[in-house]
Amino acid sequence: MSLPNLTSQYAEAFPELVRDATPAPSPDPQLVLLNRGLAAELGLDAEWLATEEGINFLLGHNLPDSAKPVAQGYAGHQFGNYVPSLGDGRAILTGELPVNDTLVDIHLKGTGPTPYSRPGSDGYAALGPMLREYLVSEAVHALGIPTSRSLAVITTGRNILREVEQPAAVLVRTGPSHIRVGTFQYVRAHQDLELLQRFTNYSLTRHYPTVEAENPALALLEQVVTNQAELLAQWMHVGLIHGVMNTDNMTIAGHSIDFGPVAFLDKFDPNAVFSSIDFAGRYAYGNQPAIAEWNLARFAESLLPAIMHPAEELVMSQDDAVTAATEAVVNFRRVYSGAWAKRFTQRLGLTSDEDAQSLSTQLFEQLQSSGTDFTGFFAGLADIAKSGLIPADVEPELMSWYRHWLDLSPSAEKLAQHNPIYIPRNHLVEDAIQDAVTDQNLETFHTLLAAVTNPYERQQGFEHLEQPAPVAFAMNYQTF
Ligand code: AMP
Ligand code: MG
Ligand code: MG
Repeated sequence: MSLPNLTSQYAEAFPELVRDATPAPSPDPQLVLLNRGLAAELGLDAEWLATEEGINFLLGHNLPDSAKPVAQGYAGHQFGNYVPSLGDGRAILTGELPVNDTLVDIHLKGTGPTPYSRPGSDGYAALGPMLREYLVSEAVHALGIPTSRSLAVITTGRNILREVEQPAAVLVRTGPSHIRVGTFQYVRAHQDLELLQRFTNYSLTRHYPTVEAENPALALLEQVVTNQAELLAQWMHVGLIHGVMNTDNMTIAGHSIDFGPVAFLDKFDPNAVFSSIDFAGRYAYGNQPAIAEWNLARFAESLLPAIMHPAEELVMSQDDAVTAATEAVVNFRRVYSGAWAKRFTQRLGLTSDEDAQSLSTQLFEQLQSSGTDFTGFFAGLADIAKSGLIPADVEPELMSWYRHWLDLSPSAEKLAQHNPIYIPRNHLVEDAIQDAVTDQNLETFHTLLAAVTNPYERQQGFEHLEQPAPVAFAMNYQTF
């Protein structure tokens, strides 16, 4: 088979925003996971990808002449502190794959040092975290939430030191682009209005091609605010805690990326934090919408010169531009609330947002004080709606909540459509990764992957995947 066609549109359009980068040689590549369904969607031949030639294509060692592998530059606020030069320190964009009328980035993580690698960092990734990102991104996709996808995990035959020696791996991921809020911060720091305008137009055309605007920067801001507000509402409903919502991990296309210390809620708790590096709880479950809005304010600041100068003959005063940008950012709350309410109504199997709203405060207070399993509670609603039988062992307050809810005649069918049964529960993810890395046994991983990529359908033999985490596990769980 001839090599898939890859363009280098981004690298050619913005040489000042990239550095040439070559993946480090792989002593002994072994394909650990290949996403055949995704390969088919991308028009790639999975059989060929699994051959030596195909694996070397995936690893960026065997690319068409049209490809120009690069590391992308970006800045970012990390835990609130501005870092002017980050960039892909362990990742490479091998190129864009034309799929229908769009371009899909082929992006590798764990390919070794790049010109952006900071001193003391090796550019490699351990197998465990790459398996976690593969599993979580595919689960998030199956839940109907925009996200990067995972095409393959390949061990390279290299070992790396992370507390203990571990196999190194490359994750091959795809997405509509890897333009981040942090990329705009990086562009802004160039103090080059023409570059900012051109980058704004490029982003708008690539991700929001139907938008026609007199002020492209303002239009881009509005679109990103809307998409991120929708995204955050979806994360909150499935109990996803991203873990590192730095501005360099927030995309302009509005999809989820960079699931490092990602975790899912077990019991409902707005203060839930699982990342061992998030000491202050900045990225706690309940803080995520406010953090997204804060990140979007940083995006607006980066765009400001372009908002003031939408085209050559047009100028907006700084005051007017700040007012317009502020309005656009604050609109996050309205879109988020609407998106959240619409989904909450669906999750309760109701048709009226008002009915659902009247049930919300009491429910979340109850879930929190009773320590009820978040996913399990909603997954159980369909059966209760069908039978009209409220579980006997619930607390009196929750009992009265169920009665009130049943009076509103919830639809069992809707409930089943909108409440997942299987999510990547933290204890299951840990087990799956442990078996894969320590025992080279992928069975646990594949079972969990099968469940979470078909999350709304109860399957025989998967009963254990519905159960809440053992109490001792849930109390002490931390991601890296
Ligand atoms: P992340 O935590 O993956 O979002 O990465 C944040 C920043 O740290 C990015 O600039 C990464 O490229 C960089 N980084 C993370 N891990 C490594 C590593 N092992 N080697 C080099 N750079 C890294
Ligand atoms: Mg990142
Ligand atoms: Mg990264």
